[in-house]
Amino acid sequence: MADQIGFIGLGIMGRGMTRNLIKAGFPVTVWNRTPSRMAELAAEGAGTSTSPADLASRCDVIILCVSDTPDVQAVITGEHGVLHGARPGSLVIDMSTISPHATRDLAAALAAKGVAMLDAPVSGGSEGAARGTLAIMVGGKTEDVARAMPVLQAMGKTITHVGDHGAGQTVKLVNQILVVGNALAMCEALLFAKAGGLDLQKTLDAVSSGAAGSWMLSNRGPQIIKRDWRPGFTIDLQQKDVRLILDAADQLGVPMLATSLVFNLYRVLQTDGLGAEGNHALVKALEKLAGIEVKQ
Ligand code: NAP
Repeated sequence: MADQIGFIGLGIMGRGMTRNLIKAGFPVTVWNRTPSRMAELAAEGAGTSTSPADLASRCDVIILCVSDTPDVQAVITGEHGVLHGARPGSLVIDMSTISPHATRDLAAALAAKGVAMLDAPVSGGSEGAARGTLAIMVGGKTEDVARAMPVLQAMGKTITHVGDHGAGQTVKLVNQILVVGNALAMCEALLFAKAGGLDLQKTLDAVSSGAAGSWMLSNRGPQIIKRDWRPGFTIDLQQKDVRLILDAADQLGVPMLATSLVFNLYRVLQTDGLGAEGNHALVKALEKLAGIEVKQ
């Protein structure tokens, strides 16, 4: 019989990922903290559950995509958490972006109950989640990665086993150093273009496919010049990732120059109440410094 798949966390990412599992033919049961968010997926064929423990008691593979480290801890080890329902032999796959250190502790707590765990954070944005083209960076045991592969392939295109527990999360932080550096460069470049009197759309057309092209520029550049701040990824969650990078870098004793600059710029925007906007609204912090609006 096919593995029963459970999915916890039907946010911007989780909704698309769950939909792709259903499309691939997996029997899927969902749980979301705000129960009304389950209705949409239930209408598309998913079963529903009453708590993470309830879901875990009925599933062989339990996937999570929730916000931050304390949220994953609550969902796994909390009062009605996965740990209290999961059967020995089941597999937990955490696809949230959280602390590598906390990940290793959670893997040990689950292992004590005979439950395996993989950290499998993702990159590719809401677009990648919807299209099933995510990059997935996986930490954990080789045999568990092999077991998870068909499930991961339904959600992602590039699946890389990068090491043991926590290594997936550490690679995701590497990814996020690149993402925020790219975002800062994009915002600074567009600010310069505007100040120089250029047509912003033509500028994007000219540079996007050359050596300066990037996912960030192609997907979020057009949103910036249209002043469209709808989030693929919110500033609050982006800032959570930057904090995880700076915490880890502090432990490693590594200087993080651009990343700490972005942390402070996002802090300005959070103070202005913009934490729910998309991470490309980073440009607003530079606009504030320059007194220029980057608008087509
Ligand atoms: P989101 O839209 O804000 O959704 C967060 C989800 O987590 C919601 O389902 C929320 O439930 C649930 N949740 C949060 N705290 C919880 C708790 N304490 N207990 C139970 N459920 C909880 O966020 P997202 O953009 O999908 O991001 C999810 C994860 O993927 C994050 O770790 C993020 O860093 C990572 N990620 C996001 C992107 C992106 O582009 N969006 C890309 C790569 C990775 P409610 O519905 O009840 O609020």
